[in-house]
Amino acid sequence: MSASSCCAAKGAHAHACCHGHKTAGSARGVKTSGATVPQLFGANVFNDQVMRERLPKETYRALQKTINTGAPLQPEVAAVVANAMKDWAIERGATHYTHWFQPLTGSTAEKHDSFIAPAMDGSVIMEFSGKQLIQGEPDASSFPSGGLRVTFEARGYTAWDCTSPAFLKEDGAGNVTLCIPTAFCSYNGEALDKKTPLLRSMTAVSKQAMRVLQAMGNTTSTKVISTVGAEQEYFLLDKEYFHKRLDLMSCGRTLFGAPAPKGQELEDQYFGAIKDRVSSYMKDLDIELWKMGVTSKTKHNEVAPSQYEMAPVFTSSNMAADHNQLVMETMKKVALRHNMVCLLHEKPYAGVNGSGKHNNWSLSTDDGINLLEPGQTPEDNAQFLVFLVALVKAVDRHADIMRATCGSAGNDHRLGANEAPPAIISIFLGQELTNILEKLAKGEKICSSSGCQFVKIGVDSLPDLPRDNTDRNRTSPFAFTGNKFEFRMVGSSQSISGHNVALNTIAAEALDEIATRLEKAKDVNKEIQALIKEVMGKHGRIIFNGNNYSEEWVKEADKRGLPNIGNTVDSLQALVSPKAIELFGKYNVLSKEELHSRYEIYTEQYAKHINIEARAALQMTRRQYIPAAIRYLGMLGGPSTAAGKSGVPRKLLEDVSGLLDKIYTRADKLEKEIAKAVATQQVEKQAAAFRDKVMAAMDSLREAVDGLEELVPADLWPVPTYNDLLFRL
Ligand SMILES: [Mg+2]
Repeated sequence: MSASSCCAAKGAHAHACCHGHKTAGSARGVKTSGATVPQLFGANVFNDQVMRERLPKETYRALQKTINTGAPLQPEVAAVVANAMKDWAIERGATHYTHWFQPLTGSTAEKHDSFIAPAMDGSVIMEFSGKQLIQGEPDASSFPSGGLRVTFEARGYTAWDCTSPAFLKEDGAGNVTLCIPTAFCSYNGEALDKKTPLLRSMTAVSKQAMRVLQAMGNTTSTKVISTVGAEQEYFLLDKEYFHKRLDLMSCGRTLFGAPAPKGQELEDQYFGAIKDRVSSYMKDLDIELWKMGVTSKTKHNEVAPSQYEMAPVFTSSNMAADHNQLVMETMKKVALRHNMVCLLHEKPYAGVNGSGKHNNWSLSTDDGINLLEPGQTPEDNAQFLVFLVALVKAVDRHADIMRATCGSAGNDHRLGANEAPPAIISIFLGQELTNILEKLAKGEKICSSSGCQFVKIGVDSLPDLPRDNTDRNRTSPFAFTGNKFEFRMVGSSQSISGHNVALNTIAAEALDEIATRLEKAKDVNKEIQALIKEVMGKHGRIIFNGNNYSEEWVKEADKRGLPNIGNTVDSLQALVSPKAIELFGKYNVLSKEELHSRYEIYTEQYAKHINIEARAALQMTRRQYIPAAIRYLGMLGGPSTAAGKSGVPRKLLEDVSGLLDKIYTRADKLEKEIAKAVATQQVEKQAAAFRDKVMAAMDSLREAVDGLEELVPADLWPVPTYNDLLFRL
C-alpha cells in the first residue's frame, strides 16, 4: 500500500491532505540565547522559506503542488525532499527522526529511528529515504482501534501530512529529533487517528464553501481553509507537593481536599500581576513554542489560584491541532524544568474554576477573505450573512454531535457547572446581529444612525455591527465574537481535532444545501433573503443571548426542544446515531465503522478513567487517611476510653471516631462498586456503572475524608492540602 492510498480509501488524501499554508520565516542556525524573536521564530521548522532555499526549483514546485492541490507526490520528489530535510536536521544536531502521529488516545505518539545506515567498511552513513519520509509502519497493536484493526493484523501505517511542516523537537537532555507530522491508518485505510478525519473534513468544507462562493459570483478564490486558534488553560503547582499526592500523580486531579480558607472569591488572580516564578516559566515556554513555529501570543493569570492561560494566533485547523498538541506537551515538559508540574485536567480542584480550551473557528479563502467577517459593502454583507446562517442551521441541527465531541470524564466536572458553558448548546450572536437577522427574516425595517429602511440583501448596506463583542457573553458555549465563532465547551486536556472535525462537517452539510439552492436560483439575493427567513424560522431557537448559567435558561431551552445532555456516557451516543452516520458518511469524513470505533474507544476511556480514580481514592483512604485518623485517636486517648485523655473534649473524640467509621464503611462500599463495575460486560453498561455507582461512592467517601481533614492536626495529615497546592508557587 502506498502512502497516498493510506487514508485515501475514505475519500481524503493522506499526503494529499493539502491545504496550503505558510509559516512565518525562520532564521536558522540561531542559538537560543541572544537571538531576537524573529530569528527564533520557526528556527526548528522545515517551513516554506527553508524549502525554497534548500530544494531545487522543480522539486519545490512539485511539493507545493502537492501541498496546495493534493496532487500525488512522486517518489523522486519525495527522495529529494527527504535528503534536504535530513541535511537540515543533522546540521541542527538531530540524530533521529520520527513519524509523529495522533492516535485515538488523544495524545501524540512517536517512535524514534536514527539516521544511521551501516556502510560496507563497518562504519555508518546518515540516511533518510523518500520512502522513510512518506510512509512508516509502526507496530500498531497497542493503540486503541475500537475493533477497526483485527488482532492478527496489527500493522498500522503512518503517512506524511505535508500540509503541516516537519519540525525539530529538542529535549532537556540535548536530544534533537526530526518530527514528521503523519496520519495513522489501518491496513484497509481506516483512520486510527485524529488527524485523518480532520483533513477529510477540511476538504469537505472547502468544497462546499467554494460552491457557495462561486454561486455568489466569487471568481478569485480557489479554496477555503477552516482556521482555528485554541486558547489553552492550565494550572501550575510545586513539584514537591505533586509527588506527595497519589491522586494528582495518577489522575491529574485531586480526589480529596478540604477547601483552603481562601479560594477565588476575591477575584484577585484573573489578569493579576504574574509572579516571577511563573513568568520565568512562561518565558521559557514561549521560546520553546516559538522555535517550533507555534505563534504563542497571549499569556495571563486565569480566574482560579495558580491557573493560567496561553493563546496562539489562529492558523489552519490542521496546524492548529498539531500545534495544540505541542503546546500541551511543551507546557508539561518546561514545568518540570522549573520544579513545577503543569496540570491540564479539566478540574484539578473542587471549589475553584476548572480549565477549558476555547476554540476560535472561522473559514477563510486562500486569497485572504474571512467568510465570517461582516462586510463594508452590500455584497460582502450578503456573503457574511450566508455563512452566518449556515452555521446557525448546522449547529442547531447537530448540537448533539457538538456536545458529544466534548465528552470526557474530566470535562463532566465542568460542563453544566457555573464556571463553564452548560451542557446545552446555544449560539450567542449579540443583540444587534440577532435583531438584524430577525428583521430581515420578517421583512421589517432595519434602523441605523442614518434612518430606518427595508434592507434588500446584496443591494442595501446593513448597519455597522459592533466590531468586537468578545467579552459580551462569557456564558455562551458557542459565541459569535465579531469575525469568528468561539466554541467554549472543549476540555483543557482534549485534542482539538474531534470538535473541529464535527464543525467542519456540519458546516459542509449546511453549505452544500445552500449552494444547491443558490446555484439554481434566478435571483441569488432574493434566494438569500428567503434562506435567512427559513433558517431563522426553523433554527432560530438555537440563538440565545442571555445568561446561559441561569436556571431559567435550562427551562427555556427545554421548551425550545434543545438537547441538554448532562454526562459523557449519554452524550457519546450521538456519534453513532443514524443522523451522524449519514452526515459523516456523506462527506467521506468518517465511515460507520470509524464512528463506531470512536464511540467504543471514548466510552471505554471514560470507564477506565473513573476506574483509575476510584482505585487511587481507595488506596489513599486505606493507606493514608485511615492510618492518620487512628494515629490521632491514639493521641486523644482512643474511643474505647469513654472520656479520652483528660482535657480532651468528648465531642472531638466522637467526631473523629465517627468520621473514621464512616470512612471505613464507605471505602468498603467503594471497593464493592468498583468490583461490580469492572465485572460488567457490555461497554455502555460498564461506563454507566462507573458513572452512577462508582462516582457516587467516591463522592460520599470524599465527603467524610474532607471532614476529617478539618479536624486532624496539620502535622498528622498525610498529604499536602489545597492551600499548599493552590498558593505555594
Ligand atoms: Mg480563559
